[in-house]
Amino acid sequence: MIPFLDLKKLNQPFEAAFQEVFRSFLDSGYYILGTAVREFEAAFAAYCGTKYAIGTGNGLEALRFILEGYKVLGKLSEGDEVLVASNTYIATLLAIRQAHLVPVLVEAEADTYNFSVAGVEAAITKKTKAIMPVHLYGQLAPMDALTEIAEKHQLLIVEDAAQAHGAETSDGRKAGNLGHAAGFSFYPTKNLGALGDAGAVTTNDEALAEVVKKLRNYGASSKYVNELPGANSRLDELQAYFLLEKLPVLDAQNQRRRDIAEQYQTGIKNPLLTLPSVPQWQSHVFHLYVIRVKERERFIAYLKDNGIGSLIHYPIPPHRQEALPEYHQLSFPVTEQIHDEVVSIPLSPMLEDSEVRQIIEVLNRFT
Ligand SMILES: *Cc1c(COP(=O)(O)O)cnc(C)c1O
Repeated sequence: MIPFLDLKKLNQPFEAAFQEVFRSFLDSGYYILGTAVREFEAAFAAYCGTKYAIGTGNGLEALRFILEGYKVLGKLSEGDEVLVASNTYIATLLAIRQAHLVPVLVEAEADTYNFSVAGVEAAITKKTKAIMPVHLYGQLAPMDALTEIAEKHQLLIVEDAAQAHGAETSDGRKAGNLGHAAGFSFYPTKNLGALGDAGAVTTNDEALAEVVKKLRNYGASSKYVNELPGANSRLDELQAYFLLEKLPVLDAQNQRRRDIAEQYQTGIKNPLLTLPSVPQWQSHVFHLYVIRVKERERFIAYLKDNGIGSLIHYPIPPHRQEALPEYHQLSFPVTEQIHDEVVSIPLSPMLEDSEVRQIIEVLNRFT
């Protein structure tokens, strides 16, 4: 059996290091916002190429704090519209709504699984104040074109980089450094994953960094001095220790992901399966390898019979979720088709070449 993702195996190479850092954590007697959080923030900012990284409790809060932060700074106000792809994970939408802003959904494109630049431009109104590109499945949104539109209409760009740690533009700029601010998640399955919940905001904007730092910690500027009605959503000290161990191998793991994706891309030859479109390999870190198939139920059962795990990212688009009834009347045919047809096949840096070959062979035999 090749599982969709073996998290234990993914963390096995770090086991000895984790035990050692847990020791130092325990010995330090310092459990909240200690040296490991500060070190990780510095290391992650350096990695992304930004001036600042601020650790948060998870990715959702990272995104929400950016939007709340811009409200504190007077760059956004209640009711402003934020453009976001209609096929994103629900967290992006919830972050916007929880910041009391209005998500405006923009239809996705079937080949890149991202929103189209034309769609974004057409959705801009007087109330639009920000664009939230999601680098879905690990592939960068069309940032150059979006930056042009944003400059023309004076909009903020807030990246949802939760699936794209390390994805690079052709001129070497990384996800997290492609807009005004970015939210990352270090949920265990992400390309850079903790052993629990964790997230971060990256930005070059000093004022925003200062506000986010307060928002994650009860709005405090110093101990028991509360300037803002903030939240309790700090990056956990222990998770920071773990992340510090994993960050140095992120690029190598992303490269391994790309190598496997390339084997899939050239090896899978089956007219019933539509492979992802990858215009630029460096700009994709293959958080997921997502294919499309018309008869999805039958295909998934076939994979299972042949010992291959799979998952669907995602089975229900946000505008069809029970949690968001006010969007039910909206219609996004491409997004709906994507959600009806996508299947994610195993892609982990720990997959063996023999397993990759076996997966390709099984996929090619599907009729
Ligand atoms: C994982 C994810 C998030 C949320 O991250 P959490 O750490 O689970 O809160 C947001 N957006 C996208 C696209 C994600 O994949």
